[in-house]
Amino acid sequence: MDHKAILFSAPSGSGKTTIIKRLLQYFDCFEFSISATSRQPREGEKDGVDYYFLTPDEFERRVEAGDFLEWEEVYAGTRYGTLKSEIERIAAKGKVVIFDVDVNGGINIKRYFGDEAMAIFVMPPSIEVLEQRLRTRGTESEESIQKRLGRSAKELGESSKFDITIVNDDLDRAVEETRRVVERFLGK
Ligand code: ADP
Ligand code: 5GP
Repeated sequence: MDHKAILFSAPSGSGKTTIIKRLLQYFDCFEFSISATSRQPREGEKDGVDYYFLTPDEFERRVEAGDFLEWEEVYAGTRYGTLKSEIERIAAKGKVVIFDVDVNGGINIKRYFGDEAMAIFVMPPSIEVLEQRLRTRGTESEESIQKRLGRSAKELGESSKFDITIVNDDLDRAVEETRRVVERFLGK
């Protein structure tokens, strides 16, 4: 792979979407890799912007067609994946790809891109703060919050597989630290 990529993984609610949105405003050489998912859109989420929202059958059809670089059943019954066509779309524009993927997806994508990718783990200050953020975001049912927290403990133990860990305590500070490490990686 001769194309640079930055990937962000973290337990749900750590703040990676928030940090990525801030970075996209700052750097115009970046483009977000829009994943496919079989979950329903949240209020305000748009198809082809936040995700490509597929039905479970359509997702399965695309798995069988070999359209995914990677995919995971992140939560029981809900699949998420990176379409090969998405990487091609962004590479054709000469932009650096930004990924927001779960921890397993992050490890797989890092393996695929090798040194061309910087793998960033976004760490919440604590599990309690993580739970608080998920609740404050107000997008998840109690069942979904529990599913997400259930996965978090294991994911938090995998941060050492990433190139760098950013603790998302104060948002401005975390964005600034991310901006600096990304600039160093890109040689700016
Ligand atoms: P993720 O994409 O990792 O699931 P989000 O970016 O959606 O997480 O963030 C989860 C919630 O926490 C959102 O409501 C967001 O506004 C809030 N949040 C993100 N970073 C911080 C921070 N540093 N301090 C306080 N709240 C934060
Ligand atoms: P959410 O439902 O909160 O948008 O995302 C849930 C989880 O799925 C997050 O950890 C997110 O990073 C992950 N995710 C989103 N897209 C992909 C993808 O394309 N591949 C993988 N492996 N995980 C993804």
